[in-house]
Amino acid sequence: MADARNATPDLDAYWMPFTPNRRFKADPRIVERAEGMYYFTPDGRRILDGTAGLWCVNAGHCRPRIVEAIARQAAEMDYATSFNLGHPKAFEFATRLAALTPPGLDRVFFANSGSEAVDTALKIALAYQRGRGQGSRTRLIGRERGYHGVGFGGVSVGGMVRNRMYFGSLLTGVDHLPHTHDLNRNAFSRGLPEHGADQADALEAIVSLHDASNIAAVIVEPVAGSAGVLVPPKGYLQRLRAICDKHDILLIFDEVITGFGRVGAAFAAERLGVVPDMITMAKGLTNAAVPMGATAVSRKIHDSLMEHADAPIELFHGYTYSGHPLACAAGLAALDTYAEEGLFERAAALSPYWEQAMHALRDARHVIDVRNFGLIAGIELEPRPGRPTERALKALETCFDRGVMVRTTGDIIALSPPLIIEEAQIDQLAQTIRDALARID
Ligand code: PLP
Repeated sequence: MADARNATPDLDAYWMPFTPNRRFKADPRIVERAEGMYYFTPDGRRILDGTAGLWCVNAGHCRPRIVEAIARQAAEMDYATSFNLGHPKAFEFATRLAALTPPGLDRVFFANSGSEAVDTALKIALAYQRGRGQGSRTRLIGRERGYHGVGFGGVSVGGMVRNRMYFGSLLTGVDHLPHTHDLNRNAFSRGLPEHGADQADALEAIVSLHDASNIAAVIVEPVAGSAGVLVPPKGYLQRLRAICDKHDILLIFDEVITGFGRVGAAFAAERLGVVPDMITMAKGLTNAAVPMGATAVSRKIHDSLMEHADAPIELFHGYTYSGHPLACAAGLAALDTYAEEGLFERAAALSPYWEQAMHALRDARHVIDVRNFGLIAGIELEPRPGRPTERALKALETCFDRGVMVRTTGDIIALSPPLIIEEAQIDQLAQTIRDALARID
């Protein structure tokens, strides 16, 4: 008799997110257990996780300290609203986060996902401008190829065509900066590419068109992840910061993937030496063990909203699960794990080896670019003529069959392993990708 645990579940009812459902269900990939660097399939195969889940399990899977913290909290107090009521761990977690963010960004608003953290930041930007008597500053500026989640705010400022084109007019009053991807000049750059800082000047053009008095905020990912690992050109973020300062426009860094050690520091803002006015975060915030997002806000914005509030509630915004006790418990345990194991520093120390291993793939079949920053890499493939994304998807499937999980976006393989990865596992990841690419058309 078949072992019920190993039987494939009925796949029909679950409409899977960002998945080619028909293709997947014809040939599903199922995992049922995870530990450290690995997933395990129902038939016991071990899969090396080259993507930290989805850029989120930075300390590796099922870390006992985090698991125990969640279990303890679930038994002690499963839930308490954060509307007009407090519980200690939410305050403690916010305080701990404020110590990690760049100086001055020390007020923290909790949400449940990256998408919600982004919508929170955009709403705070608008409320701040209105509160300080600059109510005409309503325009929001995103960037082509940006990804800021799937809420209407995040999609509006985001710049991935398929995520936008099916969903109507979105938010009005949004403009986009050009993306910085430049294969002609920057292919196979190691770390920050040389060319493209001047793309930030497009913000001046937008200001010339609308006037700064109508612009609230600019939001960018310091390193764009979901659109295929687009590393900022040298000097680009500094230039964006300077133009925002010149015109009194807020700058928001979406650090949902770059936070918590991914780039070898707590945040990319620290690593790159550019301090925004707000930072959105999620994913590594709890090591992904409980969903959570957060928006770190500068004292300037926070205090202004407190000062200018025209009602007892200073910000009419919040979620049933803002500051959820289980998420706070998981987050505190995640921060302890990161600190005790020195994982942010570990990522920094490992990144030269990572860079070397990834760039060695430049002569692998189909590869037209390799780019990297911290423990992130993008390996761009020549698309199959007339059938974009297919080659990369085939590479993903072939790697999975060979015991390695990678992620793809368009024709780009995007890698972001847990920060506990060992050198031998980096070698395995690279070799498996090389072999997979050699086998596929
Ligand atoms: N912002 C960025 C930069 C992201 O990479 C993501 C997710 O990958 C999000 C926002 C959305 O996060 P979530 O999927 O938790 O809503």
